[in-house]
Amino acid sequence: MGFASLGLSAPLLEAVAEQGYKTPSPIQAQAIPAVIKGRDVMAAAQTGTGKTAGFTLPILERLSKDGRAQANQVRSLILTPTRELAVQVGESVATYGKHLPLRSTVVYGGVKINPQMMKLRRGVDVLVATPGRLLDLYNRNAVKFKQLEVLVLDEADRMLDMGFIHDIRKILSVLPKQRQNLMFSATFSDEIRHLAKGLVKQPVEISVNPRNTTAKTVKQWICPVDKKQKPALLTQLIRDNRWRQVLVFTRTKQGADRLTRHLKGKGIEAEAIHGNKSQGARTKALADFKEGSVRILVATDIAARGLDIDQLPQVVNFDLPHVAEDYIHRIGRTGRAGARGQAISLVSADEFKQLSDIERLIKQLLTRKLIDGFEPVHDLPASHLDLRPIRPKKPKKPKKPKAEHKDGQRSGENTQGHKPSAKNKRYAGNRNRTSAKPGSRTRRGNSRRRGEVKNS
Ligand code: AMP
Repeated sequence: MGFASLGLSAPLLEAVAEQGYKTPSPIQAQAIPAVIKGRDVMAAAQTGTGKTAGFTLPILERLSKDGRAQANQVRSLILTPTRELAVQVGESVATYGKHLPLRSTVVYGGVKINPQMMKLRRGVDVLVATPGRLLDLYNRNAVKFKQLEVLVLDEADRMLDMGFIHDIRKILSVLPKQRQNLMFSATFSDEIRHLAKGLVKQPVEISVNPRNTTAKTVKQWICPVDKKQKPALLTQLIRDNRWRQVLVFTRTKQGADRLTRHLKGKGIEAEAIHGNKSQGARTKALADFKEGSVRILVATDIAARGLDIDQLPQVVNFDLPHVAEDYIHRIGRTGRAGARGQAISLVSADEFKQLSDIERLIKQLLTRKLIDGFEPVHDLPASHLDLRPIRPKKPKKPKKPKAEHKDGQRSGENTQGHKPSAKNKRYAGNRNRTSAKPGSRTRRGNSRRRGEVKNS
């Protein structure tokens, strides 16, 4: 079956052909006709399944049929959790829509708002946005939703992890009730289902990757090694295997910087990408990595989320993630769109708990390989597969706001006065460092600024 049978018109088929896509991926085959018909969609799909084209193509098809965006109006809105994902989705919209007379733009925090306001003036058919900056623009009357026809929540699970639920609810409350809703999420927790219940109406449900399983085309193995030996082991693996393009994950920003310095010191071209880097530095690092002048991209989970790098052959977990689901997201960067890939984790004895959690989640024991000269002194205990079902987490109850500090923000909290969950604390650290001068801004002003940092 080709794209032509899905109901797309010639300008879109031409753009798809120019990309070299011959057959629609499973999610595209299911989502494209449903979206063209105007149905709501709820899809369980990770990055790498072709989901972006799965919603972008039919939205462009619908919008091209009639209508024009008036001043400051938006006809379709795609919300994403991170700037990087927003940029990538925006690129896809531009690529697939290049033969259509539709306007699109991307807005996210951490950069000047004025140029974004200018771009919205004439109105846009497709707006890709991160939630904090979108609310900022809305509050400044730079964006209006009277003409909104379609809403997409992309990577909804990550948006909730990052504490965007209140921003999302605020956005939903200002959109016209009559609209088409598409929701994409890699995982479907109870919290996501709760959000979906109030959002999508009689949706077409699509699942292209059974929940919490990893793509079959990824070969996964682990190297037991002492913590101190990890940088040297990684250097040796890169050299011995002549790896050309490797995405390496570290748990912390400092860890990413340290490892990058180590690799550069050994003459290996490496760059780090994380929330403390400017948008310009991140975009450049990603472009250099894609084009090949940087061989090793060292990233934290949040920065790497949604990175679209074609057919990435290697992913290395320099540290195991604390949250087992992040392992699945991480290795989703390789073996994409049918290409083979390998994911290697360097695991030290103190990470045994994380390893066991991952093996339980993916329902398999990971093959272990010892590398000569790097046999650990501190043994990594043998794993036993724990096949007890993992209980779904209860949705979080909103807490009553307590008295606030005079800068309108208690420490350890996000903008809505809720403490971040253990999982969210990783991101909270970043936000809480954004200190506001007491009295210099309103509470809304503080949360706006935090919204921008959240998009990192
Ligand atoms: P996504 O899941 O949207 O991040 O897409 C993953 C990758 O698959 C992107 O690099 C797309 O360019 C590519 N892709 C999307 N659809 C197809 C297709 N039908 N055939 C081949 N590659 C595709």
